[in-house]
Amino acid sequence: MTLRLFNTLTGQLDALVPADGKALRMYACGPTVYDYGHIGNFRTFLQIDILRRFLHLIGTPVFHVMNITDVDDKIIRNAAQAGLPIGEYTARYEQAFFEDLKALRVEIPEQIARATEHIPRMVELIQKLEAAGAAYRTGEGSWYFRLAAFPEYGKLSKKDLSGIEDGARVDVDEYEKDSARDFALWKAAKPGETSWETPIGRGRPGWHIECSAMAMEYLGESFDLHCGGEDLMFPHHENEIAQSETATGKPFARHWMHVRFLLVDGRKMSKSEGNFFTLRDLLLKGYKASAIRLALISVPYRHQLNFTFEGLADATNAIDRLRTFHQRLTAGAFAMGSNQAVQDAAKKAQTDYRDALANDLNTAEARAAIFGFVREANTIIDRGLFHISDRDAALAVLKDFDAVFDVIEDRDAEPTRRALEWAAQSGRQAEVAPALLASQSLTDEAVAALIGERTLAKQQRNFARADQIRAELAEKGVVIEDAKDGVRWKRK
Ligand code: AMP
Ligand code: ZN
Repeated sequence: MTLRLFNTLTGQLDALVPADGKALRMYACGPTVYDYGHIGNFRTFLQIDILRRFLHLIGTPVFHVMNITDVDDKIIRNAAQAGLPIGEYTARYEQAFFEDLKALRVEIPEQIARATEHIPRMVELIQKLEAAGAAYRTGEGSWYFRLAAFPEYGKLSKKDLSGIEDGARVDVDEYEKDSARDFALWKAAKPGETSWETPIGRGRPGWHIECSAMAMEYLGESFDLHCGGEDLMFPHHENEIAQSETATGKPFARHWMHVRFLLVDGRKMSKSEGNFFTLRDLLLKGYKASAIRLALISVPYRHQLNFTFEGLADATNAIDRLRTFHQRLTAGAFAMGSNQAVQDAAKKAQTDYRDALANDLNTAEARAAIFGFVREANTIIDRGLFHISDRDAALAVLKDFDAVFDVIEDRDAEPTRRALEWAAQSGRQAEVAPALLASQSLTDEAVAALIGERTLAKQQRNFARADQIRAELAEKGVVIEDAKDGVRWKRK
C-alpha cells in the first residue's frame, strides 16, 4: 500500500515513498519556544503524527527531523523582559512543549535539532551562498539573500512575484506575508543581544537559514518530505528552497505538506478575542487529552478545522463508545465459532480505513469506517450473535485504528494530573474547573473504599445508603457500573 499525499510543490496527489528505498526522510518545522503551545500548533504536530504513524502502519520506516527555534526576535525580547538568559528562558518552554506532545501522544521525531547548536552549519551555508553570488553583507554586518539570484522563487506558493524589487530587504522575523524581498540570513549583533562570533561576523542566524542548514545536516541535500503549517509556505519555505537549492544546485525537498489552520468558533484564534487556548487551558477545563487529540485529528489536514467545545464533547463521547466496545470485547463471554457477517464487516472496515488514510490522510473517512463497524458489531453482540472468533477480528480492527489514532487505551489521568500540578506551581488554580477539582479530591483508594461500602450496604439491603454513595461518587465525576463480574468504575 502507498500513501498518496497532496504535494504543494506539484499541486497534485503524489505517491510518498522513500527515494532511497529504505526510510522516508522528512523534516518538520518545529516550535519557536517562547511560550506554551496553542491548539493550532498542536493541530499541525498531530497531523504530522498521523502521517508518521500511517507510514509505519503500511511498513514504511521514517527518519523524522524536527527543529526547535530557540533564538529569534520574540525570544530575545521575552527573555529580556523576564530577566533571563535566553537558554534558560527557552529551556522552560521547550520542556513544556515536549510534555504537551507526550500528553497528546505525539510520537517524538527521531532527531531534534536546536538552532543554537547548529550555528557553524548555518555560517557555512551563508559562505557558500556568498561564493555563489547570492548573499551580500550590509554596512552594519547583516547578511541577506539576493532573491534575484533564484529565478524559480515562488514555485512552491505559486505566488506572482513579478513585482520583486531588487535589493528591497526585510529583516524582521515576523515577515510580511505578501511581499517578496531580499531576506535576512544573518543579523548583525545589537548591543545586549545574544550573538555568536563567527567568520562572517558577530551576530545571530535568521530563521530561514536555520531550517535549511539543519535539514541538510541530518537528511542530506535532497530529501523526501518537508512539512509545516500553511502559514509557513510563504515566505519561510519558499526562502528555505531558495537558499538550499542555490547553495547545492539540487532539489531540496521533493514533497511538501502543509496543514491548514485551525479556527476557534469560526474565527482566527487570538488572545484579544478570548478564543485562544493552549493545551493546558483545555486540560484545566477538565477535558481529557485523548478527546483533545481526537478532536484535532478528525478533520483531514487539508481542511480548515473549526474547533468548538461541542466538537470536543463529541470527541469525548466517541472515545467513550470505543472504550466501552473494547471492554465489551475483552470482558464478554462469547459462544464458540464465528459469524460470517462480523468477519466480513471487520475486513471491510479495515480496508476502508486504510484506503481512506492512503488517500491523502483522510482521517474523517477513516474514523467513519471504524465507527460504522463498532455500531454494527454492537448490534450483533446485543442480539447474542457474536462469537469467540469474531472477537479477534474486531480487536484487529481496533488495533489498526489505534496504531494511528491512539485514543482507546485510557492514559488520560496522567496529563490531567500534570496539568493540575503545573497550575498549582504557576499560580493558576483559579483556572481549574470546579468539577475537575472535585473529581481529583477522590483518590483511587477512596473510590474503591466507597464502592466496597456500597456493595456491603446492598447486601444488607440498605439501598438508601447504596444510592447515596453512587450519587456522591457521581458528583465527584466517578461513574460506576454493576457488571456480572463485579463493579466497574471510571472517571468522567
Ligand atoms: P510556531 O511555534 O509559531 O513557529 O508554530 C509551530 C507550528 O504550528 C508551525 O508549523 C505553524 O505553521 C503551526 N501553526 C501555528 N498556528 C496554527 C494554527 N492556528 N493552526 C494550525 N497550525 C498552526
Ligand atoms: Zn522551518
